[in-house]
Amino acid sequence: MKKIGILGSTGSVGTQALEIIEQYPDKFELVFISGHTNLKKLMEQKKRFKPKFVCISDDKAYKVYKDQNLKDKNITGGYEGLIELCDRDIDIALNSIMGYKGLYMSIKLIENKIDLALSNKESIVQAGSILTKLAKQKKVNIFPVDSEHSALWQCIIGEKNETIDKLILTGSGGPFRTLKKNKFQSIEREQALKHPNWSMGSKITIDSATMMNKGFEVIEAHWLFDIDYKNIEIVIHPESIIHSMVKFIDGSIKAQLSNPTMRIPIQYAFTYPDRLISNDTEFDFVLNNKFSFEEVDFNKFRCIKLAYEAGQKGGTYPVALNVANDLSVDLFLRDKINFIDIERVIEDCLNSHSSVSDPSLKDIKYAVKDTENFIKKFKF
Ligand code: MN
Repeated sequence: MKKIGILGSTGSVGTQALEIIEQYPDKFELVFISGHTNLKKLMEQKKRFKPKFVCISDDKAYKVYKDQNLKDKNITGGYEGLIELCDRDIDIALNSIMGYKGLYMSIKLIENKIDLALSNKESIVQAGSILTKLAKQKKVNIFPVDSEHSALWQCIIGEKNETIDKLILTGSGGPFRTLKKNKFQSIEREQALKHPNWSMGSKITIDSATMMNKGFEVIEAHWLFDIDYKNIEIVIHPESIIHSMVKFIDGSIKAQLSNPTMRIPIQYAFTYPDRLISNDTEFDFVLNNKFSFEEVDFNKFRCIKLAYEAGQKGGTYPVALNVANDLSVDLFLRDKINFIDIERVIEDCLNSHSSVSDPSLKDIKYAVKDTENFIKKFKF
């Protein structure tokens, strides 16, 4: 029996994780869940999946809850509530919190020697060196819950790192793959929120539209698999069937394929090195008989280029990249800036950032604050 905790249970990945746990009651025990602002959904999940502990991480939502309900010692709130959950006795935690603040939970979980199923890619983008070092020191596993990295992981198992020539990340290209760059100025929020293949939360859907998501995934792959940036490539694969590939030094290429579903990466992180039967992922080669590939357009999707540069420069550049992206996506979602401004704001942030090499957690926190302040000073 594996004891599991889920941070960010009301999001798309968290919801699917709960369904997997529910399907295998003899394999998994749900210890805790946390949600941010979607109180209604969190309470429905509490009722249906019966976790021992619940955290309402948004302070306002927690206050609303407290005002309407009797005190329940198993329901906590805010940042402290989240940190408290990380101290619970569990075997593995899924961190599917949205955005850069998820880092602090990742660190706390690893410090507590809890295996990490990592869906909060912002954790590793910002603090890849800290997380991977700490995980090694604490003998903790970081299992990727990202379709590309799960694919890479599945391709690499049983191979030696020195035989890897290239990691090839696939990307659908998002909703604006065929749109001309001069049309980017007039992209509306609703257009950017429509992803052709994946149904996800709004932040990551925008990250897919700007392709910053793919840029983050390059940095994520660098840290998870200890591979140099020059050996990580992206290829556009609009069908989203091949989730990523590994090319070995003898020229052999392994790929991992399935219908676009997060169920497999989530489940595999929970069951590794085992696999469990799942009936809803039948793949039909005849129905899916076209696999196509295109080059990445780095001029059109500047965010990918900015991410490669920030990753290669290292230090706290990826922190600035990540926080600037989080905040500019939020500004776009609130109609404060245009779609095309997202990459501009991030680039300005990076240009004015003074990086600290081999950063400590304190340096990272400082870089977060610094970037937040930089964005606040912008006049939108
Ligand atoms: Mn992904």
